[in-house]
Amino acid sequence: MPQDDRLVMTGLRREDEELDQSLRPHNLREYIGQEKVKNSLQIYISAALKRHDALDHMLLYGPPGLGKTTLACIVAAEMGQNIRVTSGPAIERPGDLASILTNLNQGDVLFIDEIHRLSRAVEEVLYPAMEDYALDIMIGKGPTARSMRLDLPKFTLVGATTRAGRLSAPLRDRFGIVFRLEMYTPEELAKIVGRSASILGMPYDESGIMEIARRSRGTPRIANRLLKRVRDFAQVRADGHITAEVARDSLNMQDVDALGLDRVDRAVLSAMTDKFGGGPVGLDTLAAVTGEDAVTIEDVYEPYLMQLGFIMRTPRGRVCTPLAYEHLGKTPPANYNEKVQQDVEQTSLLE
Ligand code: ADP
Repeated sequence: MPQDDRLVMTGLRREDEELDQSLRPHNLREYIGQEKVKNSLQIYISAALKRHDALDHMLLYGPPGLGKTTLACIVAAEMGQNIRVTSGPAIERPGDLASILTNLNQGDVLFIDEIHRLSRAVEEVLYPAMEDYALDIMIGKGPTARSMRLDLPKFTLVGATTRAGRLSAPLRDRFGIVFRLEMYTPEELAKIVGRSASILGMPYDESGIMEIARRSRGTPRIANRLLKRVRDFAQVRADGHITAEVARDSLNMQDVDALGLDRVDRAVLSAMTDKFGGGPVGLDTLAAVTGEDAVTIEDVYEPYLMQLGFIMRTPRGRVCTPLAYEHLGKTPPANYNEKVQQDVEQTSLLE
């Protein structure tokens, strides 16, 4: 099945784009959850506004769909500035970045999604831009070439990445503010789903909203997507009203189980339990036996399975826990608890 067709994929899908626009919160007050981030940000923004200064460069990291782009747009709005949105892979050459930078206005927010995918040559241009608000350009070639420094307006770079570890140290060090976005609790997701349902004019029961929230893998983008699917079902079966039963039936039918796991999650877990005695098993082996891409497993499936406490990373590979066996309705091998415990101890020794 192409990745695009999976309900629980955290990446942006075409149908999300229109939905995203209408459901995206526009200010910090509407942005649900991430309380620690919001509190700090509120202080930084107020201070910068008081000084009539641009906000420090800010790095946001965490799994896809948690609200990084949304937060960048909110920062621009709260600062009363414009935002320019681009992404690491879209900036191919140093010249592409130079042209973006020279077109910025004083105070603008430049948002670079997937910033870990910038090339080394492009990063080199970014360093003086971030540090000194300057662009170094070479004029001429060969022995007569000389470098010239152009002043840039004072701007705020907001970088987003799903993999902070992939960022080069010099780039990471140039961000004054670094926030890690956490997965959302079912209660927070229920608020997000309720807000979205109201915007879309859908009547609902609290229990119906909670049922969707619990299956959304801690991710607002998935929550909104599931809501849309449940809406279709509710319109056909229940006059558009979202009840717990409608949400449950609709999502079960779409193979999203009570914890939000889909076919691929279950395939990953079953491969571990049935073929490798629960693990440890390497990521590439898991990818090969499930027919999934290793990066997709690592970025999309694993974070949530780890959050649920279903799998753990150990120095020798991935191990699934007794909880995973229980969820699959299977019995772990004899002495399985002790085996997992040993792996955990080994991991903490090495950390
Ligand atoms: P990311 O950039 O991390 O992939 P987005 O910012 O694109 O994620 O968020 C995906 C969607 O989820 C947004 O369009 C928005 O509707 C919703 N969303 C994200 N975070 C929140 C939040 N804190 N409160 C309400 N809705 C949110």
